Amino acid sequence: MRIILLGPPGCGKGTQGDLIEKKYGFPKISSGDLLRAAVQKGTPLGKKAEAMMNRGELVSDDIVIEMIKERISKADCQSGYVLDGFPRNITQAQKLEDIEGKCQEMVFDIQLKTQSLIERLSARRICPRCEAIYNLAIHSPKKEGICDVCGGELIRRKDDTLEVIRERLRVYNEQTEPLVDYYQKKEVFHEIDGAREIEAVFRGIQSILDKEIGKFRETEVRR
Ligand code: AMP
Repeated sequence: MRIILLGPPGCGKGTQGDLIEKKYGFPKISSGDLLRAAVQKGTPLGKKAEAMMNRGELVSDDIVIEMIKERISKADCQSGYVLDGFPRNITQAQKLEDIEGKCQEMVFDIQLKTQSLIERLSARRICPRCEAIYNLAIHSPKKEGICDVCGGELIRRKDDTLEVIRERLRVYNEQTEPLVDYYQKKEVFHEIDGAREIEAVFRGIQSILDKEIGKFRETEVRR
């Protein structure tokens, strides 16, 4: 089972991916987290990606596809995984199918108005140690500036400045939005209203997932 979380930056893909992982046990794979970890470690891949990330541009397809391919080949992804931030364009979506064509797929497109996206991204804080995500307006940590999960110091992502946020939204509209049409045609597509509270958004995703997982298991038993 491959679950793809689509939607613009700031729509809540990371948060919903964490909740899916917690409830269903499918690991969440965030291409942005993998890239940020490579940047932090100063790997050759991280060095290539850093400038593009800081400008809000997409990192080259080859780098990202290789990274995802390696990650989904790991044992914990055997029965399924959740992709957050990948694919980001049609080439990446097609490559994903080349890597693992037969996998059952579900796509959730979380949508939110541009003004709300900007507000959410501006208020976002992350824990660089355990990758937990917070929002000073709707999901703040219990202790200011400190991660509830691991006690790490929260930071603002370098690309969460207004200038870079605008560029990321432009890049989303130009390169990622065409994926909506791409997945709608494949009939695996579900639109989710991301303007609601975190728990309500998750309930929407969960009701669809439960139904689809049930159907999938029935087909497996019949085989
Ligand atoms: P995210 O954490 O998903 O907002 O991603 C942060 C940044 O990482 C993006 O602005 C891109 O520079 C880069 N990035 C993440 N995922 C991808 C991807 N699938 N393809 C290309 N670049 C990506």
